[in-house]
Amino acid sequence: MSDVVAGAYFGRWLVLSVDTSTRRASCRCRCGTVQQVTFTGLLSGETRGCHLCVRHGHLDAPARLPDWRPQR
Ligand SMILES: [Zn+2]
Repeated sequence: MSDVVAGAYFGRWLVLSVDTSTRRASCRCRCGTVQQVTFTGLLSGETRGCHLCVRHGHLDAPARLPDWRPQR
C-alpha cells in the first residue's frame, strides 16, 4: 500500500509536496522536470514520469505496475 506523501517515489516521480484539498502533488521527475500530478494518476500508475520522459520512452517500468518499487 502506498500513500502520496512528500519523499515518496512513483516511477520516476519524487513527491515534493502534496495538497490534500485539491488531491494534487508537486512532483519532480528524475530528469528534473517539476509538474503537478493528481493523486489518482500517481496511485493508479497512470503517470510514471513527465510528458518528456513518456514521449522519449525513458520510463524504466511498465505503466501499470502499482507495486513496482525502485529499491526492492
Ligand atoms: Zn522526466
